[in-house]
Amino acid sequence: MSGSDYRVFWEEIVNELKNEIGEEEVAMWFSRIVYERSSDTVIFLSVPTAFYRDKVQVRYQMLIEKKLLELLGSPIRIEFEIKAPPPQSSEAVPPRTEVISPTPAVQTRVQPVVKHTHTNPAAETALHTQQRTAAAPREKEKHPLLNDRYTFEKFVIDVDNPLPANAAIAVSKNPGTAYNPLLIYGGVGLGKTHLMQAIGNALYRNTNLKILYAPAETFTNEYIEHVNKNKMNEFKNKYRKADVLLLDDIHFLEKKEGTQEELFHTFNALYESNKQIVFTCDRPVEELKNLTDRLRSRFTRGLSIDLKIPSYETRCAILFKKLQDEHIAIPDEVVHLIARNISSNIRDLESALTKLEAYSELTGPITFEIAQRLLQDTFGSPRQHNISVDAILKTVADYFNISYIDLKGKKRTKNISFPRQVAMYLAREMTELSTTEIGVELGGRDHTTVMHGQQKIETQLAIEPALAVTIAELKKRITNANK
Ligand code: ADP
Ligand code: MG
Repeated sequence: MSGSDYRVFWEEIVNELKNEIGEEEVAMWFSRIVYERSSDTVIFLSVPTAFYRDKVQVRYQMLIEKKLLELLGSPIRIEFEIKAPPPQSSEAVPPRTEVISPTPAVQTRVQPVVKHTHTNPAAETALHTQQRTAAAPREKEKHPLLNDRYTFEKFVIDVDNPLPANAAIAVSKNPGTAYNPLLIYGGVGLGKTHLMQAIGNALYRNTNLKILYAPAETFTNEYIEHVNKNKMNEFKNKYRKADVLLLDDIHFLEKKEGTQEELFHTFNALYESNKQIVFTCDRPVEELKNLTDRLRSRFTRGLSIDLKIPSYETRCAILFKKLQDEHIAIPDEVVHLIARNISSNIRDLESALTKLEAYSELTGPITFEIAQRLLQDTFGSPRQHNISVDAILKTVADYFNISYIDLKGKKRTKNISFPRQVAMYLAREMTELSTTEIGVELGGRDHTTVMHGQQKIETQLAIEPALAVTIAELKKRITNANK
């Protein structure tokens, strides 16, 4: 197998194109393009005829390659192969004998990256498809090592960062082939364990594969115990005989040389027999210290993806979904209040909800004022007048006569980027949010971009009195809108 598999990126691009050239055009031209495979620098796609290939090349090749460059940061070419579509007659279709059948081509071809939010249609489609094609799944008890709440259905995909969830779904459909190992990294409470276990739960439900989940700490403790008892064979039998190994929080292995050595051999044994391995880590693997190089290179051999703090919209969607799933009634404005004030991670969002839920059970319905009072501590220092970045963005967009979406979006024309910098400046002045948090609310920008925007406006204010008037007016409008 080649070290590179860009299927997820290809899917992401097709999805982005829908916004750019319209769903109809994408359906017309892209539904017959099939992702075949990739090398480090080339994505191979197949099309049904030479005529089709020529048309697609002229119309889209440059656009696609440009998008690939933006997405991956290095030039990737696309090449077309001509492949006649398979015959339609049902007799010609080979019988499916495997337990997990690969999803039919038409599904994997342009698997849409899910754009929203309350439910997760991609996951559901994936599972339904498997249920149809796999041997009818038996009703099973829950997996002893997995939390049965951690499923794809319960995972809200971040609109701005759909790759981690989509890669996990892909792995659950084709374990041991597409992305091996899959490494999901990111800060605490962002859903790493949830996604990892969702892979386990989906495979457990739909196949008879032997799934082994372990936090790296458990792996380490068991290793030490077995060494001490001189029962290493038992340990090897357990870990090297898994079909799917889910090893959570590998940052725990720093400095544990013996365990690293053992994991290296476990990895090789599993990898060589095409068993799926999934790792999670709280930071990029390059930042792990005291890790042997050979193990580091194993961790990153497949696909590594970064789970980020979700956008404000996704945070709202996560809260709404939890309210719905758990039948809790809380006014929408309270949900927005929580999502606005908690941008650290999902676990903190959940604990805010739990607090409100407990109150409403014991005392009575939650109002905006009650929620504000109850969550004061959770929110940390109270924001000045609770002005939200969103309110700033709306006022700024209105003032400069541009759209709110453009302000949060990627366009870099001057008529948009200047107001955006003004918004960054105002957000720093009028809220107590960090540049990281402001970046998140401004459509997922980096904190350095926010710092840069803020400084630019500060410099300009020093030399341009007219700008001070604009800023003062904007501040007045924002404060008034907040009353
Ligand atoms: P991590 O392993 O990264 O520290 P977890 O997987 O334990 O984080 O997630 C923390 C909590 O947040 C869990 O209860 C999980 O179900 C929930 N969670 C995280 N991300 C999402 C999401 N995108 N949608 C719904 N719930 C989520
Ligand atoms: Mg975790």
